[in-house]
Amino acid sequence: MHTTRADVIKWGLEYLDDAGTGAICTVCISTGGSCCAGCRHLTPGVGCQRRNTSCTSWLCGYLLFIFHELGILADWYSFWKQVPGIDFRQDFTPSEFPIEKWIDKRNLKILTAAFSQDLQEVSKKNEQYSSTIKRNDLLFRMITLEYDFKMNGDDHFDALNKRLARLMKDFKRYNAIKSLYQSKK
Ligand code: SF4
Ligand code: SF4
Repeated sequence: MHTTRADVIKWGLEYLDDAGTGAICTVCISTGGSCCAGCRHLTPGVGCQRRNTSCTSWLCGYLLFIFHELGILADWYSFWKQVPGIDFRQDFTPSEFPIEKWIDKRNLKILTAAFSQDLQEVSKKNEQYSSTIKRNDLLFRMITLEYDFKMNGDDHFDALNKRLARLMKDFKRYNAIKSLYQSKK
């Protein structure tokens, strides 16, 4: 089947909206952690003026962490691998292209709201706001590195999961309810 660049962007934004990631972004941005910072396509107070497949598919450390823990990150990666022309903060995606498989959306709004409350609390405790940004970066590096190595089909993440549990143990609301959403590990 064929799809369009506009449709995958719309689909990706709907997926993230259903997942409730906006609640996390609101807290993150209020602590100075926006991933759009410094982008020439960002108009302050208005938002992105050049939404593209690259930024729609990209997940920061927090979102990677949640998607990994819920067992949906591999599907997210597989979906976006079908989309050609993804680049950094821009795309060369053709207006139409073939796609084999769409993935199901998930309503994670209660879980992501819990995560955002934890993030707010943790940010307040850390007077140096940069510590939450550093944690986001660390999560990003840990998870992307591990998934890059696992492209051979090995889906055992035991060592990574132990490190993640240590790093995120203060996200108490999120940790208390995440098992209700986990499909596989
Ligand atoms: S870094 Fe993550 S949480 Fe922060 S604004 Fe970007 S996507 Fe949202
Ligand atoms: S192009 Fe990407 S990084 Fe730049 S403002 Fe838009 S979403 Fe943010």
